[in-house]
Amino acid sequence: MGEGLIMKRNSNAFLKEEYDELVKKNFNWKLRILETGSTPHSVVDGKEVIMLCSNNYLNLSNHPRLIQSAINAAKKFGAGSGSVRAIAGTMKLHMEVEEKLAKFKGIESSLIYQTGFAANAGLIPQLVGKEDVIISDELNHGSIIDGVRLTKADRAVYKHRDMGELENILKDADKKYNRILVITDGVFSMDGDIAPMDKIVEISREYGAMTYVDDAHGEGVIGPDGRGIGAHFGIEGKIDVEMGTFSKAYGVVGGLIAGSQDLVNFAYNKSRTWLLSGSHPPSVAGAQLAAIDVLETEPEHVKKLWDNTKYFKKELNSMGFDTGESETPITPVIVGESSKAKELSNRLYDEGIFALPIVFPMVAKDKARIRTMMNAGLTKEDLDFTLERFEKLGKKLGII
Ligand SMILES: *Cc1c(COP(=O)(O)O)cnc(C)c1O
Repeated sequence: MGEGLIMKRNSNAFLKEEYDELVKKNFNWKLRILETGSTPHSVVDGKEVIMLCSNNYLNLSNHPRLIQSAINAAKKFGAGSGSVRAIAGTMKLHMEVEEKLAKFKGIESSLIYQTGFAANAGLIPQLVGKEDVIISDELNHGSIIDGVRLTKADRAVYKHRDMGELENILKDADKKYNRILVITDGVFSMDGDIAPMDKIVEISREYGAMTYVDDAHGEGVIGPDGRGIGAHFGIEGKIDVEMGTFSKAYGVVGGLIAGSQDLVNFAYNKSRTWLLSGSHPPSVAGAQLAAIDVLETEPEHVKKLWDNTKYFKKELNSMGFDTGESETPITPVIVGESSKAKELSNRLYDEGIFALPIVFPMVAKDKARIRTMMNAGLTKEDLDFTLERFEKLGKKLGII
């Protein structure tokens, strides 16, 4: 500020200005309010709809065993944990979840974070430093990107699932850097395709690189009984860090990592998000325990999810819709222009189907889509109802 200037800066005017700018561009999030639980038929903004955009793939958030286990844990141990894990906030329940999860996934050890985001933001920056490099798939999730931003390491990006390019970058990095970390989504959240983790591990090992997979959309979904991406490829324990979440198919909340005991010992002593933030309430840990138990003892949920997924994809494709490269219960219905995707989403809502559009800049300009997420709680009638509306509106809007 120059001398003699009396004008003070307006300290918070940007709040309104930036918000108004978002609204003008139609980039602002309009919150939709659920008046029910996240159920296959939900009431959203006062209207009953078929839920087609929840991550609650297996409908476990409504499973009586999870609810009961949450209630029991709250009654017995209280509403909160009282501390961070490292001080006085580690309860026996937390330890039980980690043991049960590691056993379920067939991996030596596991660690629970408050959220998946907290796991990425807390662990990635500890794995690499100044002399090191992180190599990322170009379509990695925002929480990985933020974790990477917290490091002092150099960065390199390879084309989506392009193993040739990954190998070229590794070859080059091998000479220049101390540690190398290859990091990727497991199931990619916009397209529903799967990282070739077996090849990524093989190539990375050749060059002495660590591997880290964010399997948020794969945990509880892919692999036998939903054991995740390591089990899907039969390489349990070979990925240095398998990271995932309890907030999606597991129906609760919480980030997880699984790997060696060395990894876990390192992670909880170093991750600042873990050390400096309160641990899960007992009800959350109780529900997590029950979720793993349900996956172990009730294989019908994962099976139903996949049966629904296969039927839905097949029918959409036979109607002429482009569902991209999806191999999982995330099925994008690619429509092209952003405005068309928004219009289709609005009309679907009017017809009783809740599925949100994903538009530029989240995806390429001509690849706007409705991202559908399948749910094990939907019936054949629900799917037929949905498909019929997609077909009708697809024709009306000139998509098929
Ligand atoms: C949802 C998601 C996360 C965040 O998980 P939370 O437990 O909800 O914080 C991280 N990575 C990917 C790929 C995700 O899809």
